Amino acid sequence: MGGGNDKTTIFAPISGVVTPLEKVPDPTFAQKMVGDGLAIDPTEEILKAPCDGTVTQLHPAKHALTVTETDGTEVLMHIGLNTVTLKGQGFEAKVAEGAKVRRGDELIRFDADYIARNAQSLLTMVVITNEKAVVTPIEGVVAEGALAGLELAEAGKTPLLSVSLPEGAKAGDASEASEAASDPIVILNPDGLHARPSAVLVATAKKFASKITLVKDGKEANAKSVVGIMGLSVKLHDKIVLKARGADARDAVKEVSALILSGLGENLHAMPKAASKAATRAALGEALRDRSKRDERAKPEAPVAQPKPAKPEDAGDPTIMAGVPASPGLATGPVFQLKGFSAEILENGAGADTERKALEEAVASSLKDLKDLVDSTRAAGDAGKAAIFTAHQELLEDPALLEVAEEGVGQGKSAAFAWKKSYEAQAEALASLDNPLLAGRATDVRDVGERVLRILAGSIGERPAIPAGTILVAVDLTPTDTANLQKSGALGFCVTGGGATSHASILARAAGIPAVVAAPERILDIPDGTEAILDGDKGMLKASPSPQELQKAKAVIEKIAAERAREMLEAAQDAVTLDGFKLKVVGNISGIPEAISIPGLGGEGVGLLRSEFLFLERAQAPDESEQTATYEAIARALGPTRDLIVRTLDVGGDKPLAYMPLPPEENPFLGVRGIRLNLLGTDIFRAQVRSILRAAAFTNLGIMFPMVATLEEFRAARDLVLGEKAGLGVTAPVQIGVMVEVPSAAVMADVLAPEVDFFSIGTNDLTQYTLAMDRGHPRLAKMADALHPAVLRLIGRACQAAAESGKWVGVCGGVAGDPVATSVLMGLGVGELSVSPKSIPSIKAGVRRLRIESCREIAKKALKLSTAAEVRAMLAKEEAAASGGEGKSGGEGRS
Ligand code: PEP
Ligand code: MG
Repeated sequence: MGGGNDKTTIFAPISGVVTPLEKVPDPTFAQKMVGDGLAIDPTEEILKAPCDGTVTQLHPAKHALTVTETDGTEVLMHIGLNTVTLKGQGFEAKVAEGAKVRRGDELIRFDADYIARNAQSLLTMVVITNEKAVVTPIEGVVAEGALAGLELAEAGKTPLLSVSLPEGAKAGDASEASEAASDPIVILNPDGLHARPSAVLVATAKKFASKITLVKDGKEANAKSVVGIMGLSVKLHDKIVLKARGADARDAVKEVSALILSGLGENLHAMPKAASKAATRAALGEALRDRSKRDERAKPEAPVAQPKPAKPEDAGDPTIMAGVPASPGLATGPVFQLKGFSAEILENGAGADTERKALEEAVASSLKDLKDLVDSTRAAGDAGKAAIFTAHQELLEDPALLEVAEEGVGQGKSAAFAWKKSYEAQAEALASLDNPLLAGRATDVRDVGERVLRILAGSIGERPAIPAGTILVAVDLTPTDTANLQKSGALGFCVTGGGATSHASILARAAGIPAVVAAPERILDIPDGTEAILDGDKGMLKASPSPQELQKAKAVIEKIAAERAREMLEAAQDAVTLDGFKLKVVGNISGIPEAISIPGLGGEGVGLLRSEFLFLERAQAPDESEQTATYEAIARALGPTRDLIVRTLDVGGDKPLAYMPLPPEENPFLGVRGIRLNLLGTDIFRAQVRSILRAAAFTNLGIMFPMVATLEEFRAARDLVLGEKAGLGVTAPVQIGVMVEVPSAAVMADVLAPEVDFFSIGTNDLTQYTLAMDRGHPRLAKMADALHPAVLRLIGRACQAAAESGKWVGVCGGVAGDPVATSVLMGLGVGELSVSPKSIPSIKAGVRRLRIESCREIAKKALKLSTAAEVRAMLAKEEAAASGGEGKSGGEGRS
C-alpha cells in the first residue's frame, strides 16, 4: 500500500452494521465536512486499528482517534454522536498518541450502554480526513436498507474503504498546511451565541494551539474570547465561518464547527416554528421576562412583576419615569445618584515593562479577590452570587480584554489608561448590541474592569458609600454595587440600563427590595436628595411627588409594614383555624441563608428544598462531600423538630446542565427531565441521595421526586433511595414522597397513594401540563391559573386518594403563597402549605381567620365552577362576606 495513485484499503475498525455517512443524523458528518467515509452501528464495544499506522491524534475525551497509515492516509474514527460532551466517561483508551499500531490492535474500549443512555447515538464514523482523498466504499460492504442482508462488518477484518491520495494530500501536509476554514455555519441557538454557548465554544477552542477566528459579515473575533464572540452579536440564523491558523488548524476547525453545529450545550431550534416563536417573543420585548421566569425557578419565589409600559395617562407627567419592573415593592425616600467610577488616570506610562507588570499584578490580585468571593458566597450557601462572581473570573481571564490593554501598554500608555480603554470598548460594544441578554453583560464587563482599575489607580476611585434610606439612581449597578446595596440599607434602585434578568435585578428580588430597570435617561438628572416614590410593581420612579402623593404612598407602605409586623409578632403561633384545624406552614428554599431564616419566620420546616441551587451554573457537579455539608448545614439550621423535604435534582429539558450532557430536545418540557433524568444519570442521583440521607441525623427528613408520571418511576427511585439508605446504615425514619405535578400522577393518585408517604403538589407544573400552557409564556400568564377548576379537581383527587391511604398532602407550587387560595386548598384537603419564607407569617395569619368547615364548602363550590375567573370571583366574595368588608385580591404567584 503506498501513496500517489495507489489505493489503500482501510478495514472496519469496529464490528457492526455499515451505514452510508449521509444517513448519520449529524450534518457535520452527513455533509462530509470532516471527510468522506462510512459509519458503523457497532455490535461490539471495542474500536480496533483499521490499518497499520500511528495514532496521530487521540481526543482528550477519548471518543475520537486518528490513525495515520504509513502512506499518510488519515483515518479518523469518531465513536457516537455528541460523545465529546461525555468528557471521557464511558471510554477507555488502550493506546496513547504516537503509538504504532497494527491492524486489528485495540484502540478504545467503551461502555455502549452508558453511551447509548447519555449521548445522541452510538454510530461510529470512519472518515478519511486527508484533503482531496478519493474515498470509495468497498463494494457490498454497506447494508442496503434495514431489511437487506445486514451483513456485519468485522473489526480489523472486513475491508471497508478504498482510498487513493493524490500527491499533496498526505498526512504530513496536514500539519504543514497551517490554515483552515469551515463552510458557513448557520447558528440555531435560539438566543444566538450569548455568554453560555460562547463559553463552551471558548473552552474547546482553547485546547488548540492554532489561532482560531470566528467571522460574521466580515467582522472577526477571537474564538478563544467570550467577550470577543459576544461582541460579534451572533443571532439565531446568522451565518458564521470559522478560520484557524497554526499546526492543528484543521482539527480545530473540525472540532469547533462540530461543536457549534451540536448546539454548544443548548437545545437548538431548527424548526422554523420554534425559531419564529423565539423571534416573535423577542420582538415583543418579552423574551427576557420569559427567560427570567425559567432561570429563576431554582431561586426564591419572590414574585416577578410583569413588565408593563407606562400607563398612557402618565405619559404627559415629566416627573413620572417609567421603566421595567425588576423587583416588586414600594419605597419613598431621597434620591442618591451613584456615579460611575472616576479616578484621575494618567495617559502616559512609566515604561512598558513597569506598566505590564502592574497590569498583570492587578489582574492577578483581582482574580484572587474574585476567587475568595466565590468561595465565601458559596460557603454561605449563596450559589446565585457565587455563579455571578465565577462568571466575572472568566471575563477577567478573557484574552481579548488583556490583549488590547497590553497593546496600549506597548504603545507607552499607562496600565490604568490602557486597561480602562480596553474594557470600556468591550462594554460599549456589548451595550450597543440589539440582543438584550448580551447588552446586559456590559455591566459585568465594567464591574470586572473597575475592579482591576481600582487596584491600578490606588483606592482614590472607590465608589462613594451608599447612604441608608435612599433610593439609588444610576446608569446601572454592578453586582458588587448590588451586594453593597444590601449592606447599606438603601431602599431600592432605579437604573437606565439592565433588564429583568440582569444580575442586579436577580439580587434585588432575592433581597426583597423594589427595583426598576430600563428607566429613561432623565432619571440621571434628578438632583441628589430629591424626594421620590419608587414603585417596583408598576416599574416607575416618581420624582418630587406632591405632598398628597407622598402621603398616600407612605400610608400604603406603613399599612403593609404594620400588617407584616403584626403577622411577624404572631409568626411563632400555630396556624389554627377558628374551629380548631391546624395547617402546617413551611417554606420553599434554595439554600442555607433561607433555611436559617425559617425558624424566625415561624416556619415549621421546609416543604421544598430545590436542590438544583447546588448544581446550576457550574462547570461540574458538586461532589458528595460538598453536597453532604450543604444538606447537613440546612438540616442543622432547621433542627430536630422541624421538617426538611428535599426534592431530588429537577433539571433537564429546559434547564440543561453542562456536565450532564443530553441530546437536544424537540419538546424540552416533555423530555428527559426531573425523575427521568435522575433515573438515567444514576451516579449523580445516587451521590445526591446519599448526601441527602446523611441529613436524617439532624432533622425530620423527607425526600421527594420531581415530575413523576408513572408508578414505575416512583418505585425505581424509591428502591434506589432505600438501597442507599440501607447501604449507609441510616436508621432514622425518612419519608419518601412524590411531587404531583404531572396530570397522570394526580389521575392515578389512588394507585400511588398506598406506596408513598406523602404527596407534594407542584401547582406550577401541574397547571402548565393540565392546561397545556407554558408556565413561562408571558402571553399565557393570565390564563395559566392554578385556580382553574381543572387543576383544583386534580388537587382534590390527589387529596382524596391520599386520605383514603392515610397519607398527607402539601402544596409547594406558587399558589400556596397566594392568600386568596388558602381557603380552597385547605377545603380540598391540603394539610401543608409550603411558601416563600417571607410569606410564612402572613399565610399563617390568614389561616387563623378561617373556618375549616367554610373552607370545605368553598372547595365544593369551586369544583362545580367552570372557569378560573369564576373561582377567583367566588373566593373574593366569600372573603368579603367573612370579613364583612371588601374582598382581598390575590397578589402573588398565580400558579
Ligand atoms: C411546581 O412545579 O409547582 C414546583 C414547586 O416546582 P418548580 O416550580 O421548581 O418546578
Ligand atoms: Mg415543578
